[in-house]
Parts: sequence; structure tokens; C-alpha cells
Amino acid sequence: MRLPKFEYFEPRDLKEAVSILQNEPSAKILAGGTDLLVNMKHRVECPPTIVNIKGIDDLDHIKQDNGAVRIGALTHLKRLYMTPMILDKLSGLAEAAAAVGSYHHQAMGTLAGNICQQNRCRFFNQSRWWRSSRPNCFKAGGEICHVVNKKESCYSSYCGDVAPTLLVLNAKIVLTGPKGLREIPIEDLFSGDGKTPLNLNSGEILTEIIIPAQAMDAVTSYTKFANRESIDFPIVGTAYWVSIEHKEYRVAYTAGDRKPLRGHQVEIFLNGKDLNGETINEASDLAAKDAKPVKTSVYSPAYKRRLMGLLLKEAASKSMRRATS
Ligand SMILES: Cc1cc2nc3c(=O)[nH]c(=O)nc-3n(C[C@H](O)[C@H](O)[C@H](O)COP(=O)(O)OP(=O)(O)OC[C@H]3O[C@@H](n4cnc5c(N)ncnc54)[C@H](O)[C@@H]3O)c2cc1C
Ligand code: SF4
Repeated sequence: MRLPKFEYFEPRDLKEAVSILQNEPSAKILAGGTDLLVNMKHRVECPPTIVNIKGIDDLDHIKQDNGAVRIGALTHLKRLYMTPMILDKLSGLAEAAAAVGSYHHQAMGTLAGNICQQNRCRFFNQSRWWRSSRPNCFKAGGEICHVVNKKESCYSSYCGDVAPTLLVLNAKIVLTGPKGLREIPIEDLFSGDGKTPLNLNSGEILTEIIIPAQAMDAVTSYTKFANRESIDFPIVGTAYWVSIEHKEYRVAYTAGDRKPLRGHQVEIFLNGKDLNGETINEASDLAAKDAKPVKTSVYSPAYKRRLMGLLLKEAASKSMRRATS
């Protein structure tokens, strides 16, 4: 499969990259390329301009700063689970990075590329030949959705493995754009619109991820359920954060909706309570109520909801084991 034709830029610094992106609103950023180039080969994304940011200095780092951890956008996923400090203090983040695709995706794929990956749908992530048997859907520029009838928007699912863990860590992201730096909670990056899943202003690049010091006073885990154990997107993934001492709990899901979601109903129910068989069972019944899965994959919404409950149980017992080991 060949790539379509495009104009290619290799900016030397962020200023140059921002200026190219601002002048070419349909340009796409290239990091590891493991999501973007595959989509381009399938002609599901055909940007006329590619801006390769890999030559820009200071975007590949893991630093500690007043207790917070700052991770550069171009940090490879593999480096996250190879770094002893991340393994020790942020085991859920290491687990999520190690759950992505295959070793090759982890070695090439970057943290920002993983966060900013395109939403997925079984009617969209197919070859051009496969898609040619139906009219184009909204995401492909058409006027129909093959999943949700009579709705004029795209319901494709966010399927990234790492974002839910960053959500439970209350991570912030730094965006560099024409007006300088902007720091926002990672939750605010995701629009909930399957066609344009990210809230990025013109010319903006995600440059750094900041994990606050407070996030590290807890036990974290990421639990993924996929069809195959290797090279597969999650059917559902659950990130879990628990401070046993303060009886505080945070939960987030991926692949259950148009964006990664915090499990607010579960959190409200669990906060302040001791974890035992009964509370975990009740929480797992609530787990699916925050998400609205639709049939964007071959798995039914009911199956996904059931999995969300089961994964929450597994994540809770995994975290308890970690807390007491
Ligand atoms: C067979 C296969 C299996 C996969 N399995 C998984 C999986 O299990 N879990 C999973 O999470 N992912 C999976 N992926 C998707 C992908 O490999 C990973 O998400 C990877 O981490 C993407 O990172 P990248 O650096 O290669 O991103 P790229 O492909 O370079 O970019 C991805 C998107 O992010 C944008 N982008 C990149 N960097 C920035 C930035 N700094 N600021 C703003 N936008 C940016 C790009 O424009 C592009 O739209 C899979 C892909 C394939 C082909
Ligand atoms: S949810 Fe609908 S509009 Fe979105 S990609 Fe799937 S078929 Fe297309």
C-alpha cells in the first residue's frame, strides 16, 4: 500500500512548526507515524501537508520538577515502562504504555501521538476498497452515519490505551501555539465529537504532559481487554487510581465512548468507603453508567458495558494487591 502525495516539512524548532501549522490548517503533525501513516495508506486521512516534529529538540524527556513529573511529547511509549521511577511511582502509566499494540508500536509510538490518535470505527478504519461498497459516512465527508441512524454527528470511539491513566492522574497538558503556551487538564483536550476528537486551536502542538505530585501518593493500574493479547486496540480499558489512606478513588475508561471518560458515578459511590467485596460489586454495577457505547466495533454495547464492570473489579483487586505488597 502506498502513501498518497503530500507536502513534507521538517521544522527545526517549535516556532517554525507552529507557523507552518498555522499557515496550513489541514496539515497534520507526524510523530512516530504508527497511527497517522497507516490511516493515510488506507486513505482514511489524506492531509495535503505533513509536519514531522521529530527533529525538534527538548520534546523527548522525563523530568522531575518539585515533585511533579514532566514528560515530553516525543517520549516513546517504551521509555515509560523502562524508566524505574515511572514503574515505581506510576505503575498504571507504565502498564498502559506496555499495553499499546506491539513492541514496535511502543518503540516508535510517542506519548503525544498516542493521546492524539484518531477515533476508530468499524465502518471507517478499513481499506478504501472495503469502504467503497457503501456511501461515505460523516467522518469520511459524507452525509450519513452507518452506526447511529438519524443523527448528524460521528460516534466513532476513542481507543487510546494511555489517556485514561492520565485522566485518573489528573494530568495536565501543555499546548504550544501562535499565542505561546497553554496548560489545560487533559480531560479538556477531548471534544467528544468523533469527527474532530481534539480541542486544538489552529497551529497548536501538544508539547508536554505534567503529572502532579499528588497523583503519586496512590496506587494506579490499567487493565485492558482486547480480542488478542498482542497488537490489538482495547475493546474496553479501565484505569484505576486509589488512595487507600484517604479512601479516594478515581476511575476512567477508554473505548467505551467518543472520548476517554472519568467514571464519575463509580467515584461518587466509592469515595470515603472501604473497599470490600460488597462495595466493589456495587461499583462494578455502576461502572457502565458513565459511558454510552455504540456499535462502532463488532462488540455490542451491552457486552462493552458488562466488560466495564468486570474490568473495574479486576482493577480494584489488582490495586489492593499492589497496595499491600
Ligand atoms: C496495528 C495497530 C495496532 C495498534 N494498537 C494500539 C493499541 O493497542 N493501543 C493504542 O493506544 N494505540 C494503538 N495503535 C495506534 C498507534 O500505534 C499508537 O496510538 C501510537 O502511540 C501513536 O503514536 P505515534 O507517535 O506513532 O503517533 P502518530 O501516528 O505520529 O500521530 C497520531 C496522531 O496524533 C497527532 N499528533 C502526534 N503528535 C502530536 C502532538 N505532539 N501534538 C498534536 N498532535 C499530535 C498526529 O497528527 C496524528 O493525528 C495501533 C496502531 C496500529 C497500526
Ligand atoms: S460512527 Fe458513523 S460517521 Fe463516525 S466513522 Fe462510524 S459510520 Fe462514520
